[in-house]
Amino acid sequence: MSILATNLGFPRIGSHRELKTALESHWNGGNADDLLKTAASLRARHWVLQQKAGIAHIPSNDFSLYDQMLDTIAMLGAVPPRFGHKGGPVPLDLYFAMARGRQDAAAMEMTKWFDTNYHYIVPELTAGTEFKLSTTKALDEFKEAKFLGITTRPVLIGPITFLKLAKMRDGSDALALLPKIIPVYQEVLQALGDAGADWVQIDEPILVCDLDEDTKDALNDAYSELTFFGPEGGPKIMLATYFGSVGNNTQSLVALPVAGVHLDLVRAPEQLAAIAKALPRERFISLGLINGRNIWKSGLTEGERLIEEARALHGDKLFISASCSLQHCPVDLDTETRMDGELRGWLAFATQKLNEIAALADAANGRRDNAYFLENAKAVGSRVTSGRIHDPAVKARLAAVTPDMATRKTGFIERIALQQSLLKLPLLPTTSIGSLPQTREIRELRAAFKHGTLDQAAYEQKLEEKTAEAMAWQDKIDIDVPVHGEYERNDMVEYFGEQLSGFAFTERAWVQSYSSRCVKPPIIFGDVSRPLPMTVRWTAMAQKYTAKPVKGMLTGPVTILQWSFVRDDQPREQTCRQIALAIRDEVLDLEKAGVKIIQIDEAALREGLPIRKADWQHYLDWAVESFRLTAGGVKDQTQIHTHMCYSEFNDIIAAVAAMDADVISIETSRSAMELLDAFVSFKYPNDVGPGVYDIHSPRVPSQQEMEDLLTKALKVLSPQQLWVNPDCGLKTRGWKEVEPALISMVAAAKAVRARLGTAARP
Ligand code: ZN
Repeated sequence: MSILATNLGFPRIGSHRELKTALESHWNGGNADDLLKTAASLRARHWVLQQKAGIAHIPSNDFSLYDQMLDTIAMLGAVPPRFGHKGGPVPLDLYFAMARGRQDAAAMEMTKWFDTNYHYIVPELTAGTEFKLSTTKALDEFKEAKFLGITTRPVLIGPITFLKLAKMRDGSDALALLPKIIPVYQEVLQALGDAGADWVQIDEPILVCDLDEDTKDALNDAYSELTFFGPEGGPKIMLATYFGSVGNNTQSLVALPVAGVHLDLVRAPEQLAAIAKALPRERFISLGLINGRNIWKSGLTEGERLIEEARALHGDKLFISASCSLQHCPVDLDTETRMDGELRGWLAFATQKLNEIAALADAANGRRDNAYFLENAKAVGSRVTSGRIHDPAVKARLAAVTPDMATRKTGFIERIALQQSLLKLPLLPTTSIGSLPQTREIRELRAAFKHGTLDQAAYEQKLEEKTAEAMAWQDKIDIDVPVHGEYERNDMVEYFGEQLSGFAFTERAWVQSYSSRCVKPPIIFGDVSRPLPMTVRWTAMAQKYTAKPVKGMLTGPVTILQWSFVRDDQPREQTCRQIALAIRDEVLDLEKAGVKIIQIDEAALREGLPIRKADWQHYLDWAVESFRLTAGGVKDQTQIHTHMCYSEFNDIIAAVAAMDADVISIETSRSAMELLDAFVSFKYPNDVGPGVYDIHSPRVPSQQEMEDLLTKALKVLSPQQLWVNPDCGLKTRGWKEVEPALISMVAAAKAVRARLGTAARP
């Protein structure tokens, strides 16, 4: 019996971000048919690509026009009541309205998918939510592939992961809804089976999390109902776990009556033995051997070793696969035309990873392509010894770090008083998170400069004009702490990656972050240092145009790490500390240039949290220490801000306080300040700016709404510690929305200030 090459999911954006272009033109009034045509051609292209690579189980329904959780919400008909849906199929405009908001209904919440930088739409449910099959997407896409001659393995997000990630609006128990959603899943599975699906992949990544007994029971209940072992057959279920070890949930997993289980053996190779022994021999194990979260060529000998181990323990009911969906990888290394040969030799993107999967499967079936394996071994080996990777000066500096380098000289109370005597800010100071709208004009300027059609002097002149305009506008609307707008930055990580040693950047290595938004993570391949100042001239230039204190903007080490493809030849924490020292150099240069407020964004600090609680403290220790290393060298008078974009905060608030930033801004408006619960039980000592404007939606909030949010915030924060700002940077929004929104935001701050009766901060 042969061991099949399989795949859990393929990136949907297209190697040239075709999906992004099509979505955005649709949202700007373009025809829905054009969007749907592009989507279909991407699906077809990716199916054929996988078939040609020799993948036997090719996924379908891994494609999405927005997000796979939103697809599941639509499939189940779980549309929140504010969208006024009367039942029946969910139309496209409603689908997008749930994600992006509508003038009469705020968008649904969005949050990060486990520990990735991919965002999903959070289901909003109550005990009374009714479920009814409301889309035919899974079936349609299966048939679409079948029409092309490809029998796919449809992918669904499993009911337990769906419910556990849902937000219960009424505080009731999500799992109590299980009996109501199971019939919908049954209907879908039945329809897929009838249409000819032999296997269906159901993703339950929740199995790598800490689970309580109720959840384990629910898993058991769900899969007893979803598995058809009867004479009519029904599709076989491949239950996919990924992003870590099933660990102490192993007994629950192997007890589920499913035909196969998928394991992430990149992050957790050690789990293989226990599961391979415990799982009945007639069930399949899908071995996740190729890293779906990174861009390095895999060491295939380790893959071969694991296959042998699996075979010895379990026989040959095995599939070969990547650790998780390849959705988190860029599409195709072949689109990189300018990368040097040495670096390219170390890399594999989604398309190349398909070949690695197929090569391992072929080898397992006695058709080992020795030349391919030899080349792989050479490439992997050359990374270990390359002189481009190891910089003795960086290693020596890191070894010499002392604890006082990560500690501000005095405590917050004294610092803030000194800062205030210098900055003279009003109560409830207004600011923004950094970037201002990146208009088409600005993007074109950057592109022209990058492609050499605009010379450096002309480019910088143009950007200076734009920045000067932004400064004048912020003065006019009376923002207390203006920003330069980050017009020179394509992306908050890539911009720094391009200027740091040890980083490489790509032309098209895009991965989806959310919706049409893609990021192009830099590749950290070697020891990191900062040869030259990276941001000083832009901040200093902006300061010439205003008397207000301009906030200098940097990206913090944890976020740079988190949003890059990181070298896998040393612990992540060591790479993070190297980045921290590089950012520290920049902070000190900004201070030297007279910048009084410096924001070091740690947008991704929380998403870096390990999935298992037992691993949290170690991570938080090095993450917080890295941040403190960036800021620990400044004078008391220099005000350090940080920013974080997420709303689950409660569980890490002590670590956030330990970062000891003078001011922290956080995302809150979409979750209506629920986040502030954290501040009720934990007395956060420093200043806080809970976002009052949801920048993820084109909707413009009213002054009243923002006043209400501030009033809410004042219930748990003191007026002396409250700042007023949007949820996040404004680069994705247009001026049409940002102008009225920020004008109202300043007005809201002034109104609340007036109510408080003091204009000045004591
Ligand atoms: Zn943010």
